[in-house]
Amino acid sequence: MPSEATPLGHGFTFADLGGRDGLIRLDRAFLDQLAAADPGLHGRLLAARAAPDDVPAKYESELIIALGPHLDTFVAELFGIQEEIEALVRETLALDPIHACKRLFVQRQAVKKYPDASGFDGVELRAALEQRFGEPLTELTFATRTTEWQQAGDADGIDLALRYAAWATLTQEGQEAHKGGTLFKVPHRVDPNHLVPVQTMERDGVTMLRLPEEHWRPRDGFGLTDYGMNTQQALDQMNYCIWCHAQSKDSCSKGLKDRKTGAFQKSPFGVTLAGCPLDEKISEMHALRAQGSVLGAFATIAIDNPMMAATGHRICNDCMKACIYQKQDPVDIPQAETSVLKDVLGLPWGFEIYALLTRWNPLDIRRPLPRPDSGRKVLIVGLGPAGFTLAHHLMNDGHTVVAIDGLKIEPLGFDPCQPIREAQTLFENLDDRVMAGFGGVAEYGITVRWNKNYLKLVRLLLERRETFAHFGGIRFGGGATLSMDDAWAMGFDHIALCMGAGRPTVIDVPGGLARGVRQASDFLMALQLTGAAQRRSIANLQLRLPVVVIGGGLTAVDTATE
Ligand code: SF4
Repeated sequence: MPSEATPLGHGFTFADLGGRDGLIRLDRAFLDQLAAADPGLHGRLLAARAAPDDVPAKYESELIIALGPHLDTFVAELFGIQEEIEALVRETLALDPIHACKRLFVQRQAVKKYPDASGFDGVELRAALEQRFGEPLTELTFATRTTEWQQAGDADGIDLALRYAAWATLTQEGQEAHKGGTLFKVPHRVDPNHLVPVQTMERDGVTMLRLPEEHWRPRDGFGLTDYGMNTQQALDQMNYCIWCHAQSKDSCSKGLKDRKTGAFQKSPFGVTLAGCPLDEKISEMHALRAQGSVLGAFATIAIDNPMMAATGHRICNDCMKACIYQKQDPVDIPQAETSVLKDVLGLPWGFEIYALLTRWNPLDIRRPLPRPDSGRKVLIVGLGPAGFTLAHHLMNDGHTVVAIDGLKIEPLGFDPCQPIREAQTLFENLDDRVMAGFGGVAEYGITVRWNKNYLKLVRLLLERRETFAHFGGIRFGGGATLSMDDAWAMGFDHIALCMGAGRPTVIDVPGGLARGVRQASDFLMALQLTGAAQRRSIANLQLRLPVVVIGGGLTAVDTATE
């Protein structure tokens, strides 16, 4: 069983990584290794750290991308996972021919030369290709062979491959045959009025829209119905990205601006395209992950979004809406981000690496290490996404944090400081998982669309810190368990109010709260906080069907699915 004294590489132990002194030593060890490997880069990093506000954005991006692979090497040695990191690099680079073939052969040639492939016999074309290949057709064999044929000028082979690629990309049978793959999936034009591929149907005299049956996902209980993209699919997105930071056009991060006025543009629905609210360095993350630097990509996300376990796929997509691709499918950034998180969590000591890079991040030129103790104490009211993210940043800025939440927070049931080798051991079956009370709206307001085990990771990131304490079941305000005067009397220097995200939007219409009308957020809370959602629970929640759900946001979708 690993303990805090378990030795790591570079002469460190897990206990060393928990405190600021150990992290300062770790940073020195990293800088020494960097100086030996690339003295110029070492000098650039020190200069950037000395005057971070003078560093132009483009220069910072280049610095981050140059540092990423060095971080991979150092952290891999620290945790003894060099083989696993090398395997990830190999796996990444092995897919490169597919990304290149898709862009240069399928998109630029096949679908243009044969825009109507409906008359092609895919089975016959495949058999002919396999005969020429001398092995089964996979995306990789197709990409490799067609590249060879192009280099050799094999006109017959190229034409055969072009026709097959057109069939696989443009026909329904072709798409069916390559379901789950990426080579024959090209971006489509976006029609803002038809973002969801619905079909019209009539039942009992009522005309309605519904998703075609092939898109249905069976739902039983609270297990995930969407596991997100696999590595190849996520890398496909990162290679589809054009890494706009090099031209300072990464609107996913900085927002899509009008060239003339400089103001943010609006989507056809009037949504301001301000990009990621955290200014996450998305383009740099994609560039690093695409070259195999998994930890570099992870650390790049962590600069602006250390609580990334609570963001990404199925949670947010402001970045994606502001992607430079406005007329065709945008890059699926949330999927890419979550896939990097999963890559890291899948490594031995993956959670420890995550936890470490939230406290020490050499790619962050502004705050590579937690700042010294400020002597300030902050009370955070509410442990939802705003509360837990603020708690993290305040602690890294050197403050002491006490957080309270109105919900009862269940004990973890294990020592949070115990090093965790396999992150998977933290995950519970989502069907049986007991609500832990931590995470506010992320816990009680979300159902099957997201893996709530991630909340436990976030909680552990905070609960391990010496400067953090949290208490559940405490209401704040006049007449509640704790008032503002109580907080001042206790010696807090600041109070941060981070509650209220779950408050329902009461629509100002006559009969808005008539019998039979229920607020969706209140319904979701009742469903989950009472345990009524659990098959084995005796708590009940009665509803009369059918129900009309008004709204199209995440709360409405969660309510409709329940
Ligand atoms: S995600 Fe879109 S906007 Fe962002 S860097 Fe990639 S292509 Fe550019």
